[in-house]
Amino acid sequence: MSGAAETAAGAEETATFADLGLRPELLAALGRLGYEEPTPIQREAVPPMVEGRDLLGQAATGTGKTAAYALPVLQRLPDDRPGGDPLALVLVPTRELCIQVSEALHRYGRDLGARVVPVYGGQPIPRQLRALEAGVDVVVATPGRALDLLQRGSLHLGGIATVVLDEADEMLDMGFAEDLEALLDEVPEQRQTVLFSATMPRRLDSMARRHLRDPLRIQVAREVPVEGEAPRVRQTAFVVARAAKPAALGRVLDVESPTAAIVFCRTRDEVDDLTETLNGRGYRAEALHGGMSQEQRDRVMNRLRSGTAELLVATDVAARGLDVEQLTHVVNYDVPAAAETYVHRIGRVGRAGREGVAITLVEPRAHRMLKTIERVTGAPIHVERVPTVADLRARRLELTRAALRESLLGDDLERFRTVVDSLTDEFDVVEVALAAVKLAHEATTGPDDDEEIPEVTLRPERPRRDGDRGDRGQGRSPRGRSGPGGDTERLFIGAGRSAGVRPGDLVGAIAGETELRGRDVGAIEIAERFSLVEVPAAAAEDVITALRGSTVKGRKVTVRRERPR
Ligand code: AMP
Repeated sequence: MSGAAETAAGAEETATFADLGLRPELLAALGRLGYEEPTPIQREAVPPMVEGRDLLGQAATGTGKTAAYALPVLQRLPDDRPGGDPLALVLVPTRELCIQVSEALHRYGRDLGARVVPVYGGQPIPRQLRALEAGVDVVVATPGRALDLLQRGSLHLGGIATVVLDEADEMLDMGFAEDLEALLDEVPEQRQTVLFSATMPRRLDSMARRHLRDPLRIQVAREVPVEGEAPRVRQTAFVVARAAKPAALGRVLDVESPTAAIVFCRTRDEVDDLTETLNGRGYRAEALHGGMSQEQRDRVMNRLRSGTAELLVATDVAARGLDVEQLTHVVNYDVPAAAETYVHRIGRVGRAGREGVAITLVEPRAHRMLKTIERVTGAPIHVERVPTVADLRARRLELTRAALRESLLGDDLERFRTVVDSLTDEFDVVEVALAAVKLAHEATTGPDDDEEIPEVTLRPERPRRDGDRGDRGQGRSPRGRSGPGGDTERLFIGAGRSAGVRPGDLVGAIAGETELRGRDVGAIEIAERFSLVEVPAAAAEDVITALRGSTVKGRKVTVRRERPR
């Protein structure tokens, strides 16, 4: 069975990173990171970007979009880079993404000696100035901070050959439209412009039309329903923070108690790490990845088939063509990079009328991809709470009860009667039974795990209004969903209408300089000489510190609580 042939991309599906024309230094980095093959967006975006084409890519987090633009950006860096000014500028909406993207560029570009500098709000400007002065190849920036540095004369954009706008829809939503326009006006006209966005609202499209030249349009996860009958698979997902994933997986597996399961990971390193963790937790897990010899793989498969191993931790490449009768569960340790991959993976269970289970662990940022998968497969994926310690205990007791019942129904228990008889002289028969249940329970289920896994909720889908203007209505009512804990606080900002301040500027400044997202900002009132902004109380101090250290409409402004505490 060749899984590759089943996807829409056909022959291209088997393309390797080397086929994409990447230089050896990059291939070496990808090998080190354990990436086995490009994801669909990488397959489609890398070659044209390497050639210098402008590109408009519709892809969400989880598709591998970062590497899809980062690899060509690095590939296009000239070997000889005597100057200190940046050659590429990557604009991202948040501090978190800024750090993540610059780390990715750093990892991929290590052998090329790529100098990558992240600049984002919230970090002291002097440190960023020093990093820029020391010489840089790629700047990864939030728009507000990039503009600020540009206006101070510290960020030189005259040598920029490639501009990437990542999560462009988020940037517009956060009120960065003007900043983006200003930055795009400052980069040389003869540059490559690449825009990635999960959605393509109309105003983003018109922005692309103004700034991109004859862009190639790429859309991953086209919403084409999958042909054929859907397998009988119960599909569930659990939203968990990255750090809690191994524990969450353990908990879910404990509750599900699969006969045989495959856990899919993205990279070889992840396969090795997770196998070790699961074995440490008492599972019989085996690793399967492309770095292993055929003989090693055969051995692993035999162990799974014979029941010696219960879990197979694998990459897609290694699991291709693999068919295991006994398989009851497929686990996606991450949301797969393409809906087709998901369909292909879960097709391994629910065969021949048997019921299978597909479990997906979702990091909060990747939830959009889950929605895409739901649309493509046409089947709902139920997002459930990771079982709590109490759930697990209840489930374990249930297993013990079932085992005892089975024994009562089928086993010959007579030889134990003397034990019970002698104990009932001294104890009540129920007490004797309780002690026996305790011993049986402990012998079969192992020690109780009492680590609670923090609950994470999915970000609600943003209401999307095509063509909306970025500016938020003045005095807009407090947001429907309040921040963590629901408490808000109003902040006084010493600039208002007379300084040209609009709600979008404030939302942009807050979102660019702090951990808050645009939607966390509540009601905004703009008066003639000042503004009032509602923010989650827990973040008020952060917002004050960050805004005091930056500028609003290019000016330093007073920022304080409306009513001192
Ligand atoms: P992104 O969609 O860019 O946020 O990437 C999601 C995750 O996939 C990141 O953790 C990447 O390190 C990982 N990743 C990206 N491309 C590949 C690939 N070709 N193979 C394995 N993992 C990848």
